[in-house]
Amino acid sequence: MKTFRLPSDHCPTCGKHIDACTSIEHGNSPKEDDVTICYGCAEALVFDAELRVRIMPEDHPARRDDLFVLARYHMQQDVWRRAQ
Ligand SMILES: [Zn+2]
Repeated sequence: MKTFRLPSDHCPTCGKHIDACTSIEHGNSPKEDDVTICYGCAEALVFDAELRVRIMPEDHPARRDDLFVLARYHMQQDVWRRAQ
């Protein structure tokens, strides 16, 4: 895993400040159309050309990708634990 700095942004769902992301595959820096998961609320997000995030469309193929679904499930569990 490798962490990358991002332009300052906010999650469109929970408003959490976003200025970094961690790659779980390949260690490559993020690029347009890559997917990510909000640390604050586990929302499924997609990077735009400026590496700002938007909510992932319901028909995005990542929503059916086993690795992404599993990673999001674990993030949802982590969000829930932090809220206790
Ligand atoms: Zn969020």
